[in-house]
Amino acid sequence: MGKLRFDALAELFSRTPIEVDVPKAKSSDYFGENTFNKKAMQAYLSEEAYHSVMDAIHKGSKIERRIANQVASGMKSWAVDRGATHYSHWFQPLTGATAEKHDAFFDPSESGGVIEKFDGNMLVQQEPDASSFPSGGIRNTFEARGYTAWDPSSTPFIIGNTLCIPTIFISYTGEALDYKLPLLKSLTALDKAAVEVCQYFDKEVSKVVATLGWEQEYFLVDEALFHARPDLMLTGRTLMGHSSAKDQQMDDHYFGSIPGRVMNFMRDLELESLRLGIPIKTRHNEVAPNQFECAPVFEEANIAVDHNALLMDLMQKIARKHKFRVLLHEKPYKGVNGSGKHNNWSMLTNTGTNLLAPGKTPRKNLQFLSFLINTVKAVHDHSDLLRASIVSHGNEHRLGAHEAPPSIISVFLGSQLTQLLDDLENRVKMKMTPDEKADIKLDIGKIPEILLDNTDRNRTSPFAFTGNRFEFRAVGSSANPASPMIVLNSVVAHQLKAFKASVDGLIAKGIKKDEAILQILREYIIESKKIRFEGNGYSENWVEEAKKRGLSNVSSAPEALKAFLSKNSIEVFETNHILSKRELEARLEIRLENYIKSVQIESRVLGDLAINHIIPTALKYQNVLIDNVKGIKELFGAEDYDELATPHLQSIKKISGHMSMIRKLVVDMVQKRKEIHQLGSIQDQASRYHSDIKHCMEQIRYHIDKLELIVDDEIWPLPKYRELLFTR
Ligand code: ADP
Ligand code: MG
Repeated sequence: MGKLRFDALAELFSRTPIEVDVPKAKSSDYFGENTFNKKAMQAYLSEEAYHSVMDAIHKGSKIERRIANQVASGMKSWAVDRGATHYSHWFQPLTGATAEKHDAFFDPSESGGVIEKFDGNMLVQQEPDASSFPSGGIRNTFEARGYTAWDPSSTPFIIGNTLCIPTIFISYTGEALDYKLPLLKSLTALDKAAVEVCQYFDKEVSKVVATLGWEQEYFLVDEALFHARPDLMLTGRTLMGHSSAKDQQMDDHYFGSIPGRVMNFMRDLELESLRLGIPIKTRHNEVAPNQFECAPVFEEANIAVDHNALLMDLMQKIARKHKFRVLLHEKPYKGVNGSGKHNNWSMLTNTGTNLLAPGKTPRKNLQFLSFLINTVKAVHDHSDLLRASIVSHGNEHRLGAHEAPPSIISVFLGSQLTQLLDDLENRVKMKMTPDEKADIKLDIGKIPEILLDNTDRNRTSPFAFTGNRFEFRAVGSSANPASPMIVLNSVVAHQLKAFKASVDGLIAKGIKKDEAILQILREYIIESKKIRFEGNGYSENWVEEAKKRGLSNVSSAPEALKAFLSKNSIEVFETNHILSKRELEARLEIRLENYIKSVQIESRVLGDLAINHIIPTALKYQNVLIDNVKGIKELFGAEDYDELATPHLQSIKKISGHMSMIRKLVVDMVQKRKEIHQLGSIQDQASRYHSDIKHCMEQIRYHIDKLELIVDDEIWPLPKYRELLFTR
């Protein structure tokens, strides 16, 4: 066995589980103890400062500088009491990871000692040296620097000895360089539009928030094996590897018992998450071997997004402690399930009503139907933009492959709601008799309060209604969920505004409110019908059917990303003051650049491994065969020689064939990369990376995987799929 692989396996088998110190106290006693939450604020802030922060959270009001100083001082005392020595503005740049720049609290004092200092200015604003974060050209044309600004609606927290303050990240000219600023703006737009629609049904509603409950899927791999796979280390996925004789055929991993070492990791992760106020609730195995999932209770979307970003960081840290590596890549292994991050999304009023949950009365249910149908209409009208929000080089491997939704956006509603929508389509008319109206009202009142019916759950839909929320399943596991949330909030806000305008228009013509609502909803039901699909989203038939319906199916990420700059999306983002055309252009450029770089790195790693690891190994084995054939010739006469040597000669030829193909393809691939980089447009470069480079990589992989089956296992240098997937 290749030495690297042998040592890695030996190390793995010598591991002892790392025990976790689970506190005796109830989890509610330590939940959020590392966050500057309400309880901490009450203890460390004046009443005035506390209320000012609360108003900022609930009403979006500004915090005066004088109060900011007080908040900073209280926050610092709280952090220092917990051993913090540094503070950092914590933000989510468009690289997809989180960023932090640590500054020490201490300041040299005039008397020569040091004092701990942290004032309102430091809390409110900080200038990270941001020139190396992607800005899609925005920063280059204006200022070379951006700054971070405090988001009081998200809770500060301590990691290690650093106080982390959630912030937005903007250029000096005010353009968003991060995910949080447009997310906050999209939430404001949704709030406003949804409150207006709620006024038709309930005058008490003055605020609507989007709620998000994400489900994070991931793979674990032992650290030693990880280090023995340069492709995993450098790209997060395996670029080669023949499938294991057994992988997920038996469906025996899902909900199976969680293995011991993994369980310790999960406990540790949960413990630290709870301390940071992340309400992690469920954990289980996923379908593929060594694949797992964790999910919190849903929260207001801004907080939920921060918590997911924080959790992804935390997972990496805690995994290291347990000698694992977390693979957040959408498709670490070919041929087995990839990982997603289902985004469960709904809207919640200040009066405690979930706007996507049916209620007890016809009034409540008409409200429910309004939000449901408007969401379906928004998804229908902006499906390309929704797809653009979730595509990436990683997700490209997952969508449409093994147990993952295809690149066709459709909506699943379930049989009961489908029936109801069909009924409304047929029975609502321009002129209805009082009896007809009463009948419809009666039927709307009968929508069962609980639609959460497990027998009616379609797991193959990219966007499914699951009883009291929509579940956007096409989101990739490594994505920042802000990206799909920004788009979803924005398109639904845009749609709700149009709905309100149309209904008001009918009311102005003398049509009664409820009837006006029903008539507009009926229009939407008809207009958005083609996006509704109840069947198996993974089947070939659906691809055909979707084509007939005129639904788009774009599997290339560079192609799908173009939707960011369609007329339709510019209108949505600009009229709702979420992102300007310039910001959209910048975002598109960053996503394309990111795509190119990721595929470029993969292609280089594959080229290196092919030439430095695989070919030398294949040669070694081929020489063994050649020696053997020579020996046969010496020992046996011509008759026996033919029979005995032929199989070996065939293998020798096969190995030569694969080796020369690999060499040729690697040269081709490098040549193509050079050509691509001559192209002027970044969009063209990305498209060619998609069509040409990925194709080369697939072919190279094919030959390597064939060699893996021929070459002696003893000398194969890289841990194989069976080892990566089944050991822990
Ligand atoms: P499943 O695996 O069956 O889809 P999970 O229990 O793993 O379900 O995850 C469901 C997620 O949906 C949880 O995070 C849950 O908190 C979230 N959720 C439930 N209700 C809402 C809601 N109204 N808004 C947003 N998310 C919700
Ligand atoms: Mg789910």
